[in-house]
Amino acid sequence: MWRATALTLFPAMFPGPLGESLAGKALREGRWALQAVDIRDYARDRHGTVDDAPFGGGAGMVMKPDVLSAALEAASAMPGMAEAPKMLLSPRGVPFDQARGRRLAAGPGVVLVCGRFEGVDERVIEAHALEEVSVGDFVLSGGEIAAMAVMDCCVRLLPGVMGEPHSASEESFEDGLLEYPHYTRPASWVGPDGIERRVPEVLVSGHHGRVAEWRTRQREEITRRRRPDLWARRSTQGNELK
Ligand code: SAH
Repeated sequence: MWRATALTLFPAMFPGPLGESLAGKALREGRWALQAVDIRDYARDRHGTVDDAPFGGGAGMVMKPDVLSAALEAASAMPGMAEAPKMLLSPRGVPFDQARGRRLAAGPGVVLVCGRFEGVDERVIEAHALEEVSVGDFVLSGGEIAAMAVMDCCVRLLPGVMGEPHSASEESFEDGLLEYPHYTRPASWVGPDGIERRVPEVLVSGHHGRVAEWRTRQREEITRRRRPDLWARRSTQGNELK
């Protein structure tokens, strides 16, 4: 079973949204396991101190290395977790992406350290060889929502979690392109602006080849326009579509 362990100062945040819908159903079916470890349980004094002022001065507090390290050792000692990669959610980390999610989902699980305050003492990152991962170029108030994003990405890739197994391979990022636009009934719809919008003709044509071609064209167009970075990487990798 794929196992996710979150180290957090707010264990009550879990499973949170991961207890609903696809991930929640999979959790109840035992396709994955989630454990939230309360970092405060590893505090060394009776006040439950987990943070301290930064050496060198400056604003905010820093998570103490001794406390976080004890929590990490305990997490790694839990059944099935010794081999799981250990990550620290961090805005200065390597951007988390679909490819990393795939590799992670194919492994035994993951230990995710959720930072708070200004972050964690650098020495604990070094000592535990924590892989720093970011969920985007913006700053959250804590790592919990970022950890949930990582878990959600992995869980929907586990066998048996998604209804249609093929649907992941046509999705955004899986082959370096964003997804094509979707349409459903009614075929004609009048929006609040009073304009009638019809579904693109090709989609109701019944020609599978033309539909596939149209979708590919749309994916290329959308990717080129919205994500020139993805488009450039795709071209340099030499895997552009004919
Ligand atoms: N002082 C830090 C920000 C701390 S935010 C800096 O300037 O880089 C507090 C915690 O939220 C971080 O320790 C991290 O665990 C989490 N966090 C914030 N933004 C994040 C992001 N984009 N990706 C992943 N984790 C993030």
